[in-house]
Amino acid sequence: MTFDLVIRARRVITPTGERAATIGVRAGRIAAIEEIDTDLPASTTVELAAEEVLLPGLVDSHVHINDPGRAEWEGFETATRAAAAGGITTVVDMPLNSVPPTVDVAALNTKRAVARDQVHVDVGFWGGAVGGNLAELPALHEAGVFGFKAFLLDSGVAEFGHLDEDMLADTIDLVAKHDAMLIVHAEDARTIAAALPAQGRRYADFLASRPAEAENIAIASVIGLTERYGARAHILHLSSASALPMIADARRRGVALTVETCPHYLTFCAEEIPDGATEFKCCPPIRTAANRELLWAGLADGLIDCVVSDHSPCTPELKRFDVGDFGLAWGGIAGLQLGLSTIWTQARQRGFALSDVVDWMARGPADLVGMKRKGRIDIGADADFCVFAPDAAFLVEVNQLAHRNPVSAYHGRPLAGVVRQTWLRGEKVTGLRPGGQLLERGNS
Ligand SMILES: [Zn+2]
Repeated sequence: MTFDLVIRARRVITPTGERAATIGVRAGRIAAIEEIDTDLPASTTVELAAEEVLLPGLVDSHVHINDPGRAEWEGFETATRAAAAGGITTVVDMPLNSVPPTVDVAALNTKRAVARDQVHVDVGFWGGAVGGNLAELPALHEAGVFGFKAFLLDSGVAEFGHLDEDMLADTIDLVAKHDAMLIVHAEDARTIAAALPAQGRRYADFLASRPAEAENIAIASVIGLTERYGARAHILHLSSASALPMIADARRRGVALTVETCPHYLTFCAEEIPDGATEFKCCPPIRTAANRELLWAGLADGLIDCVVSDHSPCTPELKRFDVGDFGLAWGGIAGLQLGLSTIWTQARQRGFALSDVVDWMARGPADLVGMKRKGRIDIGADADFCVFAPDAAFLVEVNQLAHRNPVSAYHGRPLAGVVRQTWLRGEKVTGLRPGGQLLERGNS
């Protein structure tokens, strides 16, 4: 039987390790994984160069696309083109910063209608739990969102409310009853309110306004309620490494808790962020170099499951480069297409292998959202691939990035590893014709 596509590579990252292989693709799925010298008949055969590695397409479960409503910040067309340029073949869109936010089925349908004909990679959606919409969550769950996002303090946008302790308990109770998942922006409102306010150009002052203690208190609260109700919870964008021992304890007790962190927490450190450089502002904040190394240790120990972008872009004006004030600037780091190279640059220096990076950036996020056919090169999986040249290098030029606005904390940085091609369900992604599909929980 003929295959639609055959890819031959000396290095392929599979769930059981790295090997040389010939991959046969039929009807958008991986149908054969054979020895490299096996002759598989195909309409198209692709032979990777000696220095290229075949990875599964990455899965980024934390992307703010902001469309509709704030499409001038980012949109489905630009964000998914950026994703593809970075080897990402699946993104899951966050429920806030778009208007409407994804807090009921009508809003989900609005977002899907906007996204449908302009996505270059596959796109799923998170729902939002904002307190007032508790009654909407079962229908939103049935409509196929991958879980519900909640904030424990001001979200930064007026239309997406946050949960107090009682609302959080009610939400976790409901989520447990529906076998759904809560994903949490874990910073404690009271601790932040008691800290010095964020203002001025000094990064040290901004850091002091968002202490690690705020994260640790919020995470403790999520763990306590998750355990009490037998729920499933996920900690978004962990920055405070001092929460890791508590997370380890909870997992030992059997609490269904997973954790992600982001490339910026694993790359940058507070000591090196210039004053006024608001492109580095995000919440929770980038902390010290010592904290960064403990996050790497958390990855090594398997306590942190995923590395995802938290791509949260805005217009250059909202970063307030005119005054460089960390209190006034929008908080969010833009760098969707740079995640793989950023993490590989840091990981290889610390002795990790490409298969580790694939665990954190492809299989891990796919498992988080229950996408069994994504994030792995395996028989039956979608034929989503990233062709990566790990020893090639480049300098980040912000104006050449595919996301909408030329703002990025990575501008000017030398990175190792170049994404040469991205394949989605057996088709090469060119950025010309949007071939992505909209995904629902359970169908991917
Ligand atoms: Zn986010």
